[in-house]
Amino acid sequence: MSKSKTRGSKNREVKSLLCMNSNPDESKWGMYAPPGGCDEIVHNVDESTTKVLCWKCTSRSTGGVGSISRFN
Ligand SMILES: [Zn+2]
Repeated sequence: MSKSKTRGSKNREVKSLLCMNSNPDESKWGMYAPPGGCDEIVHNVDESTTKVLCWKCTSRSTGGVGSISRFN
């Protein structure tokens, strides 16, 4: 693991952000949110980012999880 190269080169502000599917009604990807909304927190998000989709919803949107049949 040589991840130290990208580290420290730029002092970028990062934050943690709740998956935008926490509010499926307002999310472009709300159809991929789990029932009741997503409560996944995404860490190390760029400070300027206002919306983020967690990996769970992302993989759902790409059909990588296979649980999408649940929504049919
Ligand atoms: Zn999510």
